[in-house]
Amino acid sequence: MSELQPCPFCGGKAELVTCAPEYWVRCLTCGAGSDTTASSKRATDNWNRRPSQEPEHTACPEGYSLVPTKITAESGHKYALMGEFSESVTLTCPDCDTEEPDEHCEICNGLGEYEQLVAIEWNTIKRIHDRIVSASAPPAAPC
Ligand SMILES: [Zn+2]
Ligand SMILES: [Zn+2]
Repeated sequence: MSELQPCPFCGGKAELVTCAPEYWVRCLTCGAGSDTTASSKRATDNWNRRPSQEPEHTACPEGYSLVPTKITAESGHKYALMGEFSESVTLTCPDCDTEEPDEHCEICNGLGEYEQLVAIEWNTIKRIHDRIVSASAPPAAPC
């Protein structure tokens, strides 16, 4: 028979309860118990699987994700996010008279203005993240 893991909730010592024809495992400290089964091996397996089956209270409610309140270079977000976002801005051609643009202009192709992609600055990305965090109401259930 495999060893019983410590209690997933309190870390306490667990024991196999034999009450034929039912078997289950319970925590000697907090009383948490596995489902009853018809075999001691299955009761042990059920108990030992519990930590992954029933995430601890640090798990987030469905639809939420744990994110840091601040994103920094240290948290890896600067590397992950910088250069990911850009916006298109319309610039006036510096070489042309906007009234009569040069149709052979290499910059604006005779339009007098041109589009350029500008990367969103890291400071702006951080401000967006801060805003998302501060605008997000905490979930009803404790996270
Ligand atoms: Zn316990
Ligand atoms: Zn031009």
